[in-house]
Formats: sequence, C-alpha cells, structure tokens
Amino acid sequence: MDYEGFFKTRLGALRAEGRYRVFADLERKAGSFPQALDHQSGKDITVWCSNDYIGMGQHPAVRAAMHEAIDRAGAGAGGTRNISGTTHYHVQLEQELASLHEKPAALVFTSGYVANEAALATLASQMPGCIVYSDALNHASMIEGIRHGRAEKHIFKHNDTADLARLLAQADPARPKLVVFESVYSMDGDIAPIGELCDIAHRYGAMTYLDEVHAVGLYGAKGAGVAERDGVVDKVDIIQGTLAKGFGLIGGYVAGSTGMVDFIRSHAPGFIFTSSLPPAICAGAVASIRYVKSARDLRERHQERAALLKRRLREANLPVMPSASHIVPVFVGNAQLCKEASDALMERHSIYVQPINYPTVPHGGERLRLTPTPQHSDADIEKLVAALTDVWARLPIRRVA
Ligand SMILES: *Cc1c(COP(=O)(O)O)cnc(C)c1O
Repeated sequence: MDYEGFFKTRLGALRAEGRYRVFADLERKAGSFPQALDHQSGKDITVWCSNDYIGMGQHPAVRAAMHEAIDRAGAGAGGTRNISGTTHYHVQLEQELASLHEKPAALVFTSGYVANEAALATLASQMPGCIVYSDALNHASMIEGIRHGRAEKHIFKHNDTADLARLLAQADPARPKLVVFESVYSMDGDIAPIGELCDIAHRYGAMTYLDEVHAVGLYGAKGAGVAERDGVVDKVDIIQGTLAKGFGLIGGYVAGSTGMVDFIRSHAPGFIFTSSLPPAICAGAVASIRYVKSARDLRERHQERAALLKRRLREANLPVMPSASHIVPVFVGNAQLCKEASDALMERHSIYVQPINYPTVPHGGERLRLTPTPQHSDADIEKLVAALTDVWARLPIRRVA
C-alpha cells in the first residue's frame, strides 16, 4: 500500500468537489466579540458563524471564575472521574445542571459529542432487546452512539409524529425502546414538536432522549432549552446538552433520573476511561449557567437580532431559508459556489462565514449558516446584508431558496 499516495488521492477528490475544509486561523479578542483577528490576512474581521451564541465565552463573570479556579486548583483535574479526577468543581457543576433541567441528576462528559456517543451506545447496547428510533436528521454524534450500541434501529421521518407512531406500533410492546431526537436542528433551524413526540413515545412504552445542544442557554424562562419553553420538561426522560455553545466553554452532559445517570456513570466507556474536565472549565461553566439562568434580556435580544437579520435578508431579496430559531441559513445549493461566496465575504468585506457543505448538509443543500448574537450591532447587520448583496451580484447564485 502506498499510504501517502492514498491520502493524497482522497484529499484531491475532496478538493475537486469543492468541499475540502480550510480552517480560518482566528484570534478571538476577549471583550470585542464578534470581532476577531484573522491571522491569514492580518485583518480584523466580524464573525457571523460562531456557536458562542450569546457571547458567554468572553463574559467577565466566566473569565473571573476560571482565573480564580486555576489559581486555587491548578490546571488539570489529574485523573479520570473514578481515579482522583472528581473535584468539588465537577460535583457543583453536575448539581447546577440537574437544577437547570429540573431533573434529579446530571453527568458531565468532555464534550457534547462524547455525551451523545457514550450515553446512546451504553443505553442501546445494555438494555436487552432495545430498539432505537432515531430522527432522520439527527447529529453525527447521535448516529455514532446508536451505531456503536448495535441495537435494532429505525429512522423516522424528520419531526414526523405519524411516522414515529407507525414504526412504534409495529414493535413488540415488551421490548425496551428509545426515541432519540433534537430540539433545534442546527443546519435548518427548525424545532421539533417535543411534547407530541414524547407523548407518542410514552404511549408505546419508550424512553425519550432529547439533544438540546442548540437550545440550552437560549430558550425557556431560565435558558434550560425548548422543552422548558414548551412546558414539557417532565416528558423528556433524558436531556443532553453542551457547555460549548450557549454557555461558551467546552464539555457536554446528560440530565435525567438518578438511576439512569448512575447507570451511564457506571457503564459508559466514554465516561469512565478518559480524564475529567479541568476544574477551571467546571468553574467557568457554573458561572456561565448561573448568569444565563437570569439573563432573559440576552435571550430576548438574541431572538430580536435573528428576527431583524431574517427580515433584512428577505428585504434584500437574498435566499434566506425558513427557520423557527436563531439560526439563519442562506441557501447556495452548490459546494464550489458556497466556498467562493465565503471566500469573497472574507476577502472583500472582512466578514467570516464558513461554507456548509456535504456531509454536514445533503448534496445540493449547501448554504451559508449565519448565527446572529446579541453582540451583533445594527451596523454589523447592515454591513452583512450589503456584503451578501455584493457577493450574490458577482457570483451565479440563485436568489430563491
Ligand atoms: C455541536 C453538536 C453536538 C456536540 O456538542 P460538542 O459539545 O460541540 O461536542 C451534539 N449535538 C448536536 C446537535 C450538535 O450540533
């Protein structure tokens, strides 16, 4: 085998399709989000595709908590959770998360990806005869977890309650079942009918597992997510979330019953056999969650910014896709053009929006995914709309989604 030749050929194929990934080399500047320095051009740019949805990654309260924890406890946790790596910061964070989601218990993982992978693989593989029902547009981390669980799996049509009911009705009522879906889908920005999906699942004796990664911090009276906003927290058996998006740090978690959390804690390799998060991350996360719980103004401004951006894009006759959330996708429909549009925004306008191509979205569904934050000003929005108008005039991109 010519290993290097193999790598080169396969990477060449990605390039030819226009979906070879190039990372922007950024330096975020604490206190001036969404501005950042682009190291490649040496220019200050405006970031329009960050998942630091409400800017908590730079919040003074979060930074102060992290500085203090480093000075008190040092850098790393020093072990896996079982072997000396559970600090009081971890215990406090799990209590804070359980309280946020109004569940008896929570368990922290090194990322949201790991939380999904570890929790789903463990539940699907350990419950004898388990059948998993997975939404067609679920995130890669859930798909990987379900795959590793090796249980019987059925994919229901995206957000389709009737299709889920049809599939559940065909199964042996005695077998354990797990219905797995998200609240806010991050590429289209649509929102699941959480209460209805849970009612159907429970009618057939299934457990419900909800990924609220793109909603925690952002929806609900205290930022617990869409289940809180819709008043259906009780119907969700397992809530999964991240500390890396709305809360601005790193790490993931599940929240639910004491027994379920203890079971995953005791059986999931992705929880057991890895070192725990640094104490400063846990301290920063606790500070972030506490702040965000009462930050209704941030959540309102976040939604207001998203609504304004959508309206201004529509007025400028740009192909903004329908979205029920803070995520604002603009349709391109071609990988090469999507990359060219992104490059032109950066080079001509110092605006950074990463192109979203296959396999993150289907072929032909390529788009620019805009994430307005409370920190984007009216002037930022007007500059973006003008820049997109310029780029759309230069490139052969359709005006309708
Ligand atoms: C980003 C994402 C994750 C993974 O969360 P991380 O904390 O970034 O690892 C899980 N689920 C969905 C839907 C996501 O978009």
